[in-house]
Amino acid sequence: MVEKSFLVQKFAKLGIGSLHIVGYSVAGEETVVQIPELNVCFDIGRCPYFALTSDFICLSHTHMDHLAGLGYYLSQRHFQGMKAGTVFLPREVERPVDALLKCWRDVERQGTPYKLIPMSAGQMYELRRDFGIRAFQTHHGGVSLGYSLVSIREKLKPEYANVEGRELAAMRKKGIEIQYRIEVPLVACLGDTTTGNVFDHPDVQNAQILITEVTFFDADHKTKAKAGRHLHIDHFVELLPKLKNEHIVISHVSRRTGIRRAKQMLRKRVGDEQMKRIHFLMDFEHAKDAGEIEDSAPPPPDTAE
Ligand SMILES: [Zn+2]
Ligand SMILES: [Zn+2]
Repeated sequence: MVEKSFLVQKFAKLGIGSLHIVGYSVAGEETVVQIPELNVCFDIGRCPYFALTSDFICLSHTHMDHLAGLGYYLSQRHFQGMKAGTVFLPREVERPVDALLKCWRDVERQGTPYKLIPMSAGQMYELRRDFGIRAFQTHHGGVSLGYSLVSIREKLKPEYANVEGRELAAMRKKGIEIQYRIEVPLVACLGDTTTGNVFDHPDVQNAQILITEVTFFDADHKTKAKAGRHLHIDHFVELLPKLKNEHIVISHVSRRTGIRRAKQMLRKRVGDEQMKRIHFLMDFEHAKDAGEIEDSAPPPPDTAE
């Protein structure tokens, strides 16, 4: 008698306005969060197949659960005839990551192309005239960055609101600055971080969608949060009043708590009204193909989350 069954890893897909958030995030195991419409993936996890379609990867830090699939991502894209992947990463780790990828080239005997863009906190990289990626400091111990995806728009200065089009064109020809620039943070993703002044950053407070970790929920996990430099529910509840985001997506929840319990605990603390804008990435409760991710796996070790 042979018994056959399938084990399927479930990925989340959240539709928020005109954007989707596709991903998988469990503390210590794997974190990869894609915004397909913006062509960006925050961290790469073990590179699930959907992540291959993003041209840009924003690496928050170099813990294995966030970075393991990088070599596979670049190699597969090359193998499948896609253009070279571009990877934003903290400036301090550019050299070892570059060495790692060169080593993979030798191991695989394939000239996999890639582009690394080293970033520092506060730096804005404009991919297009109307779109940029900004890095900001997070607090995960060692080297870590968060990223915001910023829509750049030009608006007519209010003093020219009643001037006719032809006249405006003539003014522009003369070199008169008739427009001003506004930056609208669409999505900010923190990667792994504990509490700190990253939550005072304007992009973090104002992004339409904030993706933040909250790893620990149980009262006796507060020391774990401190040791691993992660957020505990107590931090998040304290930070929430200053976050003006339309939507907040919680990632990186520890398996020790599980999504259902984490959601109940948070609802008790912040109330139904706040929960309308708070979503757990790995919450499959109301998903079309409803079902929980397996909670039976052993809890991950305390380190390297
Ligand atoms: Zn992590
Ligand atoms: Zn980490």
